This record gives sequence, structure tokens and C-alpha cells, in this order.
Amino acid sequence: MKKVYEKPVIVKVETGFMNKFGESPLYQRKVRTDIDGVSIDKLVEKYGSPLFVISEKKLREKYRNIYNAFASRYPNVQFGWSYKTNYLKAVCAVLHQEGAIAEVVSGFEYEKARKLGIEGKDIIFNGPHKRYEDLEIAVKEGAKIHIDHFDEIIDLEKIADKLKKTVKVAIRLNMDTGIRPQWSRFGFNLETGQALDAVKRIAQSGKLILNGLHAHIGTFILDPNAYAKEVEKMVKFAYEIEDNFGFKIEYIDIGGGLPSKNKLKGTYLPPDIAVPPVDEYAEKITDALYTNLRPGDFPKLILETGRAIVDEAEYLITTVFASKRLPDGRKAYICDAGVNLLFTAFWYKFNVEIDRKVYGVNEPSVLYGPLCMNIDIIDDGILLPPLERGTRLIFSPVGAYNNTQWMQFIEYRPNIVMIMEDGSVEVVREKEDLTDIERRERLPEKLKIR
Ligand SMILES: *Cc1c(COP(=O)(O)O)cnc(C)c1O
Repeated sequence: MKKVYEKPVIVKVETGFMNKFGESPLYQRKVRTDIDGVSIDKLVEKYGSPLFVISEKKLREKYRNIYNAFASRYPNVQFGWSYKTNYLKAVCAVLHQEGAIAEVVSGFEYEKARKLGIEGKDIIFNGPHKRYEDLEIAVKEGAKIHIDHFDEIIDLEKIADKLKKTVKVAIRLNMDTGIRPQWSRFGFNLETGQALDAVKRIAQSGKLILNGLHAHIGTFILDPNAYAKEVEKMVKFAYEIEDNFGFKIEYIDIGGGLPSKNKLKGTYLPPDIAVPPVDEYAEKITDALYTNLRPGDFPKLILETGRAIVDEAEYLITTVFASKRLPDGRKAYICDAGVNLLFTAFWYKFNVEIDRKVYGVNEPSVLYGPLCMNIDIIDDGILLPPLERGTRLIFSPVGAYNNTQWMQFIEYRPNIVMIMEDGSVEVVREKEDLTDIERRERLPEKLKIR
């Protein structure tokens, strides 16, 4: 076979030094030939490329690891699976089997959880936009409703009147825990007294019963002390409510936000060093509970951990489709997966492994996706040896927020498979074709092309 001619270029080799992305040119990129024992070649041969691959084993391991960090320290722990992080049925079902209830933030997600077989009482209904009709169903079905704003209190009182029953509710709080920027758009602010006003409002009408407190202080939180602060403030507020209004706060839901072992852009340290172990979070959080709770009190501690559970359980296999040399001398590769599938590429610098051993000098390269769009870059500055067409690159972790935030844009969305614990492979979402995209379209009669 004739080799493609490539004009020679001079690449500066800085041996031993880290480049500005924190990588050394001598770095040997990891080779990955399989996922959970199933070869990359076989996976692509059968299911195509790009391909999302979920490991059931890893998913269960991650769940148990994080859950046990808390359950071994505190007697009353419940996890709620954050649907928006990854609402593939197979993923939700694994986590429900492990014991998680559902945490949803829209009528659509609520419906999805119900359809999967989750009862209303095992659904936490969060979010700023709960339509009246959805709220009414959730009330009827006994869901845990976490109120976001005063208008929602009014809606719930209306529903309570209509259904002639008192409705158990929780409120979402926002507060200063030292995290910047402070998340203040969801729930009622604690420090300004807004949260207390919400409690007063709830107590006045007698139609609602407050039995829980919720907060979600941010995402990818690298400081365990922020959670300690959150817990302290929530417990103190719970007692203030119990002592002054007679409500019994049965649960404290501290939300999600635990980081995964992913590398945020602009950080130098690898995730194994930058991300504190989950035990450190669990220790700080349960310490704060024991310090602030009155003796004998063990309200339920709910966590809505999303990305920390699922992120590392999923990989994306992509294939080098072509390469080119940019005018500034950099090497560029066009891959068959881009920001259409990897929404999180905007924040993360993924771990990228190659499916084969490649010899040659590493040089800073750009990884483009397949889109005819300038922003379609999935890595800028990655050190790579010269890659041939057809080389597979395995991206991880990609389990959080990609299969929900991905977009059908220019390209179809590919297969998602799950490698089951017994080593078998199941398609959990079939790749799309034109019928999926056009199913809802209507072409007016007079526009039809004959
Ligand atoms: C998104 C979200 C979560 C999950 O957050 P992670 O950072 O992925 O753990 C939990 N609770 C609420 C209310 C959310 O909006």
C-alpha cells in the first residue's frame, strides 16, 4: 500500500519537562485493548464506532464504595439517584437494584422513573420548574417534594385544598458554605431569613407539613469542609424549625456534588491527587452530623450523588478518521466523536488511551470531532505519538452528563452497550437512524417534492 506523503515539520522536543498542560513528552500513553475483558476490536466490530461502553461491574462498585463510606459511619443513609446525570434505563435500574431511590428535576424525569417501576414514595422531586399538573400527580403518588420558591408553596396549597389532604413537603435551601460562585438561584436563602419566611408561610396555612430539608451546594466540590458547613447549617436550622414551629424534620438531604476522578481543564494535578477520597467527605459530613445533632437523634441522611457514581463507569471508544497538519505546525486528528457526544469536553480534560502500542515522538496534538463546526474540539494540546487512520482512542470517564446532555446535531447518536458482570454485552441504547430524527416532523402537503 502506498504511504501518504506528509511534508516534514520540525517538532521541538523538550525531554523531561512538562509542557503547559502538565504532560511530559516522554510520557507513554496507556494502551487499552479491552474493557472488562471484552476486546475493543470486538466491541467496535460488532457495535460500530463511536461507541459508549458502560461497565456494570464498575457502576456497582462505585455505588457500593460511596454508599458504604456513609453507611458505615451513620446508621440512617439513603441515596437518591440523580436522573439528569445519566437516565439510561439500564443505568438507573442498576442503581435502583443497589438501593437508590430516584431523584428527578422535571415532569419528564418523574415520568421516566415511574415508567421504570419506581413508586412515587421513592421519588424525590426537585427543581425550579415543576408544572402544576406534574406537581399534582407527585402529590397524589406521595413523592418527596422539595419546594424551590414561594410560588410553588402556593401551588401546593392549592393542590392540598383540591385533594382535601395535608401534604408532606421539604424545602430546598441555599447558603454560604464557602463555595464560589455561591449557588443561590435554587431554593430559599438561609442567611437572609428567606428560608425562615418560607417555613412561616408553610406553617401559617396548615395545609402543608414540613418534614425535610434539602440543599445542593454545587458540583465537583473539591473541599469536603464545604459539606461540613452545609450539614452544620442544615441541622441548626432543622432544630430552629422543630423548636419554633413544631414540625419534625425527618430527613436532611445534602444533595450531590461529589467529584469524580476526572480532570478539570486548567488544573495541573492528576485527579488521583486533586480529588480527595470519598472517605474524607464521609468523615467530615458524619462528624458534622454528630457534632450538631442532639443525642439520640438520627434523621435520615439523603445524598443525591450523581457524577461520582457514574462517571468512571463509562467509556467512549472513538476512531481516528483522518489527520492533518495545522498552519502553526500542530498535529490534528479528526475523530468520529466530538462535542455532540461529549458535552463535558467543555470542562474536562479526559483520560485518553490508545488501543495499540504506537512508536514515535509525542507531539502536542488537537483532537477534533466530526462536526463541521469550529468549536468541535475534544482535546487541545494532548501529547500523542503519530496515529494512523483507524486507531481507536478510548476516552474516560464519560458516564456523567454526556448521555443526557449530548445532542443530535449533524451526526446520529451511536450505540451504547453495557458489559454485564458475567462478561456478556448488551445494547442498552440502539444507535439512531433517520426515522428517529424525523418521527415528529410533518411536511406540509404543498411543500412536498414530487
Ligand atoms: C444535578 C443534581 C444532583 C447531582 O449532582 P452531581 O454533581 O452530579 O453529584 C443532585 N441533586 C440535584 C438537586 C441536582 O440538581
